[in-house]
Amino acid sequence: MTESSSERPSREEAERAVRTLLLWAGDDPDREGLRETPARVVRSYEEFFAGYDVDPVELLARSFEETEGYDEMVVLRDIRLESYCEHHMVPIIGRAHVAYLPRGRVVGISKLARVIEIYAKRLQIQEKLTAQIANTIEDVLKPLGVAVVLEASHQCMTTRGVHMPGVSMVTSRMLGAFRDNDSTRREFLAMIQAPRAPFEG
Ligand SMILES: [Zn+2]
Repeated sequence: MTESSSERPSREEAERAVRTLLLWAGDDPDREGLRETPARVVRSYEEFFAGYDVDPVELLARSFEETEGYDEMVVLRDIRLESYCEHHMVPIIGRAHVAYLPRGRVVGISKLARVIEIYAKRLQIQEKLTAQIANTIEDVLKPLGVAVVLEASHQCMTTRGVHMPGVSMVTSRMLGAFRDNDSTRREFLAMIQAPRAPFEG
């Protein structure tokens, strides 16, 4: 039987697939410690890949607020990033920094963080994730500029393959004023590179 790639298998089928991987790894899926593992893995996958069920464009489009004349840069830095490498299905863990220059309207900061989360909770490569976040903010908010910088370490590189713990990958996408205007870009980069004083949020 051939399965169409767009057909979503049942939970039971997904659990059976995990059981197959346990057997393939050389373990006994019927021993006590592993008996609940297929169900747990599938529940974890629901969290890891929750981003497929949400439309970030729709989320952002519903949440404009007037700026009362605020036209300076808005920067969110050090947003925890948890994504999953589409080549190995292992975590990509890091930080995201996002900025935009409003043109008449702003969006709640939790909504911006959600856009990052929605794209991150999918199978990704970091370059595509960076572009998707920037492009969505650009398309929906139509600001004067958008900047996105992601710094992350990929477990497919740290725990397997070349085994290089401590290596992080940095990607960025600068649009509008952040691309065209040196001083705007420098202001953003200085903000995200500034030393952090410890504080309680
Ligand atoms: Zn990988």
